Amino acid sequence: MKDMIYLPKGWEQYREEIIAACGGEGNIRQVKEKFGRLTTYLGKEEYDKATLDMYEKMCSLTCMECGSKVAMYFRRHGWVGPICHECILQGK
Ligand SMILES: [Zn+2]
Repeated sequence: MKDMIYLPKGWEQYREEIIAACGGEGNIRQVKEKFGRLTTYLGKEEYDKATLDMYEKMCSLTCMECGSKVAMYFRRHGWVGPICHECILQGK
């Protein structure tokens, strides 16, 4: 089921916690980034909504490229997402 989880590399640091909050890999239909937000599609098993909400907020503040937690939202080339100033300067 690993290939149902598509996290930007900057968010990989949260992978295990997100899987746990989703109620385990077996409950994950898809986890991905959509419009710069962590988006989860889950099955019917119990999941930890409070923790998942927290990671949604954390991801929205975490650079999708490098994982820095000082990201801001930018829109470029029709793409929207949290990315930090360093990565912008490096042209990522
Ligand atoms: Zn960055």
